[in-house]
Formats: sequence, structure tokens, C-alpha cells
Amino acid sequence: MVIVGAGVVGAACAYYAARAGLRVAVVEAGTIAGGTTGSGEGNLLVSDKEPGPELDLALASLKVWGELAEDLAPADVEYEPKGGVVVAETPEGLAALTKLADVQRASGVVAEPADGAGLAELEPNLAPGLAGGVHYPQDAQVQPMLAAACLLRRARERGAQVHTGVRVVGIDRGAGEGADGRITGVVTSAGRLAAGAVVNAAGTWSGEVAALAGVMLPIQPRRGFILVTEPLPPLVRHKVYDADYVANVASSSPGLETSTVVEGTRGGTILIGASRERVGFDRTLSVPVLARLAAQAVRLFPFLEGVSTIRAYRGFRPYLPDHLPVIGPDPRVAGLFHACGHEGAGVGLAPITGSLVASVLTGTEPAVDLRAFRADRFDASPTYAEQQGEVST
Ligand SMILES: Cc1cc2nc3c(=O)[nH]c(=O)nc-3n(C[C@H](O)[C@H](O)[C@H](O)COP(=O)(O)OP(=O)(O)OC[C@H]3O[C@@H](n4cnc5c(N)ncnc54)[C@H](O)[C@@H]3O)c2cc1C
Repeated sequence: MVIVGAGVVGAACAYYAARAGLRVAVVEAGTIAGGTTGSGEGNLLVSDKEPGPELDLALASLKVWGELAEDLAPADVEYEPKGGVVVAETPEGLAALTKLADVQRASGVVAEPADGAGLAELEPNLAPGLAGGVHYPQDAQVQPMLAAACLLRRARERGAQVHTGVRVVGIDRGAGEGADGRITGVVTSAGRLAAGAVVNAAGTWSGEVAALAGVMLPIQPRRGFILVTEPLPPLVRHKVYDADYVANVASSSPGLETSTVVEGTRGGTILIGASRERVGFDRTLSVPVLARLAAQAVRLFPFLEGVSTIRAYRGFRPYLPDHLPVIGPDPRVAGLFHACGHEGAGVGLAPITGSLVASVLTGTEPAVDLRAFRADRFDASPTYAEQQGEVST
């Protein structure tokens, strides 16, 4: 089998497929983690998800992450089960947050209310005067690039081959009399590779790979900026974000949305986000957006006012109109499988995605119902057609 893409999702697919005894070749156009995996953050979150298929997937993945980190060596991937804290500035914001926590709890999320004093205990450097918040002890963190590299290292130890700097430019399908159009291999910039199965883990570029097989996946880039501070002693203990973040994550607006997200890293730097906008693959660094992110972060953690930033970067989340990934076999093309479209949650959802893909490849019953993640769910979608300007009004 061939896996297209060596981001964290492709790496997880390679890890689980190799572990299941399959012959695996990963084909990556650039470098390991050189796509979105190398330009995001590494939160493994349940706190930002509303009840539904994505939260169920995230809960399953968190469990798998805990086991996986042991195999990869927790220190090697900077795995930290540190928890998340969501804060509200106003009583109205807190009421909405409390309502969300109640329904999440019913889905299996641990969500502990915190009043002003409780917040100060969890995060002593938070601004005073916040209305309250919710502590999510299940949230965790990894370093995504290290995670992808370690997953591929383990896959290689089990026989997987990883070809970097090689682009998939075509997908071969059986043709002619009696052929069923089943996938027979890929055409790459370095020649042909025969394969009975192709896993599309090309992240934000997965629509292009799907098109090579003759099918449509409406994946679009959703840009996000991150600011990185100078290394500091540990002053932020959890992933801390404001209640607006959940609404921004779930929003389908193409316009700019920002919320306050602050978290420390093992290396001592503090990562400040988060912005979301659909502006194609525009790589321009937006100073107004960065200034807004910085100002919001200072409001939440006043000590940041006196701290220097050392860099800023951007990445392109693989966005699908219903905010759910595509996982599993493509009913339109025999031999084509997808593991893509995880938007802002691909690091968190990578292990469960990889293990589900390995299950379907080996004919084992998947641990999660895959119906919500079907690849053909957008075929007749007016939302998608409208977005592409294909519907006349
Ligand atoms: C600012 C920001 C913050 C984020 N924070 C988080 C977070 O805290 N937690 C979280 O879970 N997620 C987060 N994300 C989202 C997460 O980074 C992505 O969901 C995840 O990295 C997607 O991984 P992937 O392997 O699917 O894609 P990628 O990492 O993009 O990998 C796809 C790979 O496919 C390769 N490729 C494409 N086309 C071809 C081809 N034709 N042939 C060969 N190779 C090809 C690309 O070169 C690329 O390396 C964030 C994203 C951003 C932008």
C-alpha cells in the first residue's frame, strides 16, 4: 500500500498499518512534517468540541495517544497530559461555557467548573477579575513534528519505506475489458509504484490527490497565525483559551476570526494564537492579525506585556465544510482510502485515524462508526456547490 503524505496523519497511518503487518510505502512531496503539521500547535483537545462524531473521535484518540506516547517514548514527542483551562470574562460568557461543559460531560468529557479563586489556583498568572472557567484535565499536548518523525521511525523499524521529495502525480486504475477501475498503483515524480491500496493523507492538498483518482473532496485551506515568545520559566501551566475559541472553531465563516489561546511548551517558549480565515494559500504575514493576537494574549496574561516574541508563522488547516475529517474507504473508487480534512485537530485525531485506517485495510471492524466521515458525503452538497460558485441563484 502507498500512503500519500508524511504529516502527522500519514505518519500515524504508516505506524498502524506497519504494526498490522502491511507492506507500507509513504510518498511525501516535501519533507516529513513539512506541511501543516510543521506549522501548527500540538494540542490534543476534547475541550473545544461540541458533542457529536468529532468529540467521540477525539475522546477515542486521546486514549490512544496515551498508549502511543509510551511506545514512542513520552519525552521524545514532548507528550504532556497537562489539561486545558477555558475562561470567560463575563457572567454571560460563563453561562454559555457552563452549558457546553454540561453537554460535553454527558458525552464522557471531564469538565470541572472553576470560579475566580479556582482559576487563580490553576493559573496564578491569569488576569484578575475573570468571571470563571472550566478545567478540562483530559486535554494534552505533543510536539507535532517530533510525533510525525517518531511515528515514521517506528513504522520504518517494522519495514515501512519512506520516500521524501517525491510527489504523487497520478493514480493508476485498472482499465480495459473486465477491469473494475480498482487502484493498481501511483505515478510519482520518481517513477511508478504498484499498490493495491492508496491512502490519501495529503492534508490540505488532499483534494488534489483525490482528483488524481477522479473523485472530489472539497478541502480548502483555513489559515492560522501563531506568535512565539522568547523562552521563559514555566508561567503558563495549561492550554488556556477564552470561550470565543469554541465558537470560532465551529464557525464556517470565511472571514477573519480570532480568539485568545496561550500555552507553554517544553522548550519554554509560549505559543500565542489563534486566528482562522479562508484566504487560499496566501502566505503573507499579517501584522494587524499578529498585533490583535498579541493584545488579546496580554489581556489574559498581563505579564506577556513585557515579553519579547522571537518569531511568527502561519499554517493552512485542511478545512471541510462540515468540519469533520474524511476517514476510511472511498465508496467511489475501489482501493482508495482517505485520512484527511482534520482542520485544526489533526494532531489530536492522528492516532485514532491511523488505527481506523489500518482496521479497514486489514478487514477488521473499526473501533469507531465511520459513517459520519464518508468521502462521498459532499457529492450532492449544495453548500459545497454554492461555495464553488456552481449554483446559479
Ligand atoms: C495555526 C495552526 C494551529 C494548529 N493547532 C493544532 C492543535 O493544537 N492541535 C491539533 O490537533 N491540530 C492543530 N492544527 C491542525 C493540524 O496541524 C493539522 O490538522 C494536521 O497537521 C494535518 O496533518 P496532515 O498529516 O493531515 O497534513 P500535513 O501535515 O499537511 O501533511 C500532508 C503532507 O502531504 C504532502 N503532500 C501533498 N500533496 C502530495 C502529493 N501529491 N504527493 C506527495 N505528498 C503530498 C504534503 O507535502 C504534506 O507534507 C493547527 C493548524 C494550524 C495551521
